[in-house]
Amino acid sequence: MKIIFFGAPGAGKGTQAEIVSEKLSIPAISTGAIIREAIKNSTEMGKSAQSYIEKGALVPDKVVIGIIKDRLAEKDCENGFILDGFPRTVPQAEALTEMGVEIDVVLNLEVPDERIIARMSGRRVCPACGASYHVIYKPSAKEGICDKCGSELSIRKDDDPEVVKSRLEVYHSETEPLKEYYSKKGILKIVEGQEELADTTALTLAALGIK
Ligand code: ADP
Ligand code: ZN
Repeated sequence: MKIIFFGAPGAGKGTQAEIVSEKLSIPAISTGAIIREAIKNSTEMGKSAQSYIEKGALVPDKVVIGIIKDRLAEKDCENGFILDGFPRTVPQAEALTEMGVEIDVVLNLEVPDERIIARMSGRRVCPACGASYHVIYKPSAKEGICDKCGSELSIRKDDDPEVVKSRLEVYHSETEPLKEYYSKKGILKIVEGQEELADTTALTLAALGIK
């Protein structure tokens, strides 16, 4: 199955994408995670993307389209994949079509802006392995320490409240039009994000027809 997880920054797409990825044994591909990794390793791509990310702006289409093209050519994508955070603009969606990728379902995780702002302030990430946590909704077993690899958790620069505000603005202007784009193709499914992570997961799995 080829799935797109779609929704505002901080809506919880990444968390749900990981769960579905394990259930279906297909990779969850996060452009955000790939870019952050490149920044950490100071690659050329990372260096050019850094200023955009830190401002809460989108990285140019050409860059992210290149990232996805390379990633989808890898062997583990043969039996399907989940895209988390791509496409984020109409030209990115069109590029996917041009690559000959046929998406089965676009899952839109809907969460009101106010809830997102509250959530982002509690988000913590593992700089070593990329795992994500939330101080209230998804705490690590030991405060400030990654369950998966034992590294010290940190706060992403772009989770700063001012940056979150501009990320939401970008979402509404650049990314939200994709709802109509995919709705016209008849493959858009909407899931309302719930207070409890497990409840959102249940709705997500049901929407995807996964037992
Ligand atoms: P979130 O979904 O919480 O915004 P991500 O990890 O998906 O977090 O993205 C973080 C940042 O990475 C974005 O704010 C943006 O700067 C950049 N980015 C990720 N994916 C894309 C994309 N498809 N197009 C442009 N920029 C992207
Ligand atoms: Zn870790």
